[in-house]
Amino acid sequence: MNKFLPFSRPSIDEVTIAAVAETLRSGWITSGPKVQEFERQLSEYFGGRPVRTFNSGTCTMEIALRIAGLGHGDEVITTPISWVATANVILEVGAIPVFADVDPVTRNIDLDKVEAAITPCTKAIIPVYLAGKPVDMDRLYKIAARHKLRVVEDAAQAIGATWQGKPIGSFGDFVSFSFQANKNITTSEGGCLVLNNAEEAALAEKYRLQGVTRSGYDGIEVDVLGGKFNMTDIAATIGLGQFAQLNVITAQRRKLARHYFATLGKDFEAQTGAQLPPTDFENTNWHLFQVVLPERITRADFMARMKDKNIGIGYHYAPIHLFKLYRALGFKEGMFPIAERVGRQIVSLPMFAAMCESDVERTCAAMCEVLKN
Ligand SMILES: *Cc1c(COP(=O)(O)O)cnc(C)c1O
Repeated sequence: MNKFLPFSRPSIDEVTIAAVAETLRSGWITSGPKVQEFERQLSEYFGGRPVRTFNSGTCTMEIALRIAGLGHGDEVITTPISWVATANVILEVGAIPVFADVDPVTRNIDLDKVEAAITPCTKAIIPVYLAGKPVDMDRLYKIAARHKLRVVEDAAQAIGATWQGKPIGSFGDFVSFSFQANKNITTSEGGCLVLNNAEEAALAEKYRLQGVTRSGYDGIEVDVLGGKFNMTDIAATIGLGQFAQLNVITAQRRKLARHYFATLGKDFEAQTGAQLPPTDFENTNWHLFQVVLPERITRADFMARMKDKNIGIGYHYAPIHLFKLYRALGFKEGMFPIAERVGRQIVSLPMFAAMCESDVERTCAAMCEVLKN
């Protein structure tokens, strides 16, 4: 029997492991020189835009909403097909989540439906780049400009993804990334926010550390309510090692995605009724390789039968509006039918940089067997 193939696994190289040991011995393990260096390198990658790091991608988005001044009564439009964090941060700042249904092909928020959902109370849009596939960025920012809306890009899955040759994060408004363990590059837990100017960056620093500003040797002042969201130097050391591998990791994922398509062949969809992801090799970083199963098989059944074949299958995501917390706000079944269908049948096949082509072939063979009987 083949070894268990998980759907995701981080690849931390020995150089990074040695660097972490060195940080641990250095006497400085919380936010310090490694965080500064990580932020400097990220900023360089994002075309010189200011970047600040945090201890999660979730708080990164929450802080962006706070910097944008969002709060009570403000509506924020987002997608129901995301990790629940995307909508939770809207509630966290006291604003109102407004969902727009997804596009059945890209599984990302449908920008026509975003436009239709805009009201005089709309203040921001949080698009999500599911599986690291950007939305139509030109159209997104045209809509935002026309209606004077802020954008907080939930690019948690999109490091290394591009739009017309430019890295996601190197343009736009607020862009939030996650470095959680399963993401393309990781700090174990962590995130970063790309901002527009020094003023926003100063606010981000305040929000991440109790609202404190320091001056001179002993000057300390607190004028906003901040929290405790700073990244440690241990995490930043992992991040520096991972960031050095970003291009290699992205290239490997693109290669594996191409191999999935080649192995499944052009008749796979017609033969099984399953839907493959869009073949956007140029922009997508292939954070996930997601298939929407045909209705005749339940996802639970598919996952169990793949597990019997020693293959781990992920699930991203249950529609947010159908969670109890959101139902209590008035959301219910039937409101976002495409998201509900995709959310019921979507699965994530194994996809991580350390995988090899034979793992892809094994996964495809197992999936075809499960779908054909
Ligand atoms: C991972 C993820 C988040 C949350 O990031 P954390 O670092 O786990 O807080 C938010 N949105 C999406 C789409 C994600 O994939």
